[in-house]
Amino acid sequence: MKHLLLSAILALATALPGTVQAQNTPAKQLFGAHDDGSRQRGRSHGSYARGCLAGGEELAETGPTWQAMRLSRNRNWGHPRTVDFIQRLSRDADRIGWNGLYIGDISQPRGGPMLSGHRSHQIGLDVDIWMRPAMNLNLSRNRRENISSISMRRAGGAYVNDNWTPEHHAIIRAAAQDPEVARIFVFPGAKVQMCNDETGDRSWLRKVRPWWGHHYHFHVRLRCQRGSRNCENQDAPPRGDGCADAQTWVDNILNPPPPQPRAPNAPAPRRRGELILADLPQQCSGVLESR
Ligand SMILES: [Zn+2]
Repeated sequence: MKHLLLSAILALATALPGTVQAQNTPAKQLFGAHDDGSRQRGRSHGSYARGCLAGGEELAETGPTWQAMRLSRNRNWGHPRTVDFIQRLSRDADRIGWNGLYIGDISQPRGGPMLSGHRSHQIGLDVDIWMRPAMNLNLSRNRRENISSISMRRAGGAYVNDNWTPEHHAIIRAAAQDPEVARIFVFPGAKVQMCNDETGDRSWLRKVRPWWGHHYHFHVRLRCQRGSRNCENQDAPPRGDGCADAQTWVDNILNPPPPQPRAPNAPAPRRRGELILADLPQQCSGVLESR
């Protein structure tokens, strides 16, 4: 039923491209209704949290060194270079000691905002990789819906727990050392642990950024790819290894600072509105209309 409604909305939107109706429909409904990539060249349009993906490529559900998880979500689509990256990193994981990687959400077939979860992951350059060691690469579809990843955190994310291993360090390092990777998001305790454990080159730590959540998976963000002319990179992370900054996150978890009182006349915080098609780069209408 829900699917029928979505199809109806999509039909309306494609019948009346550029009309007020399509432009004002929540973009997540328009993008959520496509189950296939557009037949265009691989291009990311816009920014990680406000954009779409042309020519999305599907990561094969199972490969020699990976499995895509939660297939019912149909979020195993990315920029072709993202798919290459995942395959490359999964071979590293195999060499390091797991059999490969369990891959969580990348993007919808045509990117864009999603019906549930995630503000980013819109342009095919973000990928969630499970912290659960991928030892069994013969999981059935059904098993991949129901199995869970494993949390690595202790004390609200201030520390790693006993599930954390040197292989986690090595795989995240391999990801951070990939020249196409811009950032990796992981909970603060893991970053501090890696800061403490790394005895060699530390430059890769710069890309590993402490963030909320991210204890069941780490999140890899690739740079905009050549050819995606209106893809918007984020500013580079601050210089240095970022270890002191991560330690500050940890200190604040262990000893939360008192909440800042709101100034008496300060406006109430604004709720973020839902993105509509008109909020996205103009090319995103073409991505929706393309076969
Ligand atoms: Zn993510």
